[in-house]
Amino acid sequence: MPQTPARVLIIDDDVSTIRLMADALSSDYEVVIATQAEEGFVQALHSSPDLILLDVVMPDMNGFDFCRKLKADARTQPIPVIFVSALDTVSEQARGFELGCVDYITKPIAFPILLARVKTHTRLYRQTLQLESLAATDPLTGLANRRKFDECIQHEVARANRKRCSIALLIIDIDDFKPFNDHYGHGKGDDCLVRVARLLRKCVGRATDTVSRLGGEEFGVVLPDTDVEGAISLANEIITLFNEEKIPHHYATQHDYLTVSIGVGILDDSKLGEASIDPRSLIDVADEALYQAKENGRNCSKMQVLQPLSPTGIVSNL
Ligand SMILES: [Mg+2]
Repeated sequence: MPQTPARVLIIDDDVSTIRLMADALSSDYEVVIATQAEEGFVQALHSSPDLILLDVVMPDMNGFDFCRKLKADARTQPIPVIFVSALDTVSEQARGFELGCVDYITKPIAFPILLARVKTHTRLYRQTLQLESLAATDPLTGLANRRKFDECIQHEVARANRKRCSIALLIIDIDDFKPFNDHYGHGKGDDCLVRVARLLRKCVGRATDTVSRLGGEEFGVVLPDTDVEGAISLANEIITLFNEEKIPHHYATQHDYLTVSIGVGILDDSKLGEASIDPRSLIDVADEALYQAKENGRNCSKMQVLQPLSPTGIVSNL
């Protein structure tokens, strides 16, 4: 698959240096520039560079401090930084490496060296991103995998505790999937899972919501900043969509098409008080709710609200 050219952000207060570097790079890279640290930080956040070429001596903030700032922010921390500076002593270069740069190029710039290092580090960074994405993806459906789900729910529950906001979790299970596989075969079973994944994605619109395949025929949707009403409305929308879509399943117990059951676990911010919750308790209430939905005849959703009692104790309403 052809890749888009890597994006290189040059931050340097000297316009002629920027011009020289940009000229050298522009045939193979997309070049973004900033002449001040503040502007450079905004670019680092918003233009998703694959590499930053960073000057050290700048009037508003020195490059070492700027690098420290980049490495302290989770959003910019992974971006590789190469210092490009006239400061060429061993101790200055060593300081750059201690702060987390991947390379240090001294001025006057030897352009073949600059090009070689930019090529190496942009390629490594792209490969790392690709590997991280593969490690987080369910290969069959392309959804987030179980590992990513665990990471996501940890992160979002911690955020809900910190910001005192609501969070909901939907656990969605395909009804009668075993007879589907038994009668139609595992190939068709896989096709069905892909289709289910697509339908779930269609319902879940916000970029902040994560749809994952938890394993087998079970899916999870983490919904940050979502109250009871929002979570129930999404669960109903999903149930309705499957009843409209009518994916054929002649061996299901209720209908001759595929349906799903949904357990909704929710933490309502009005109930949070001083308490905090852990991800496990949210998953547990969603699981209980799913069990109730199955008991209730499937093709429906049930909800459980987490009731944090105190900073130490947590119970759910059964
Ligand atoms: Mg300078």
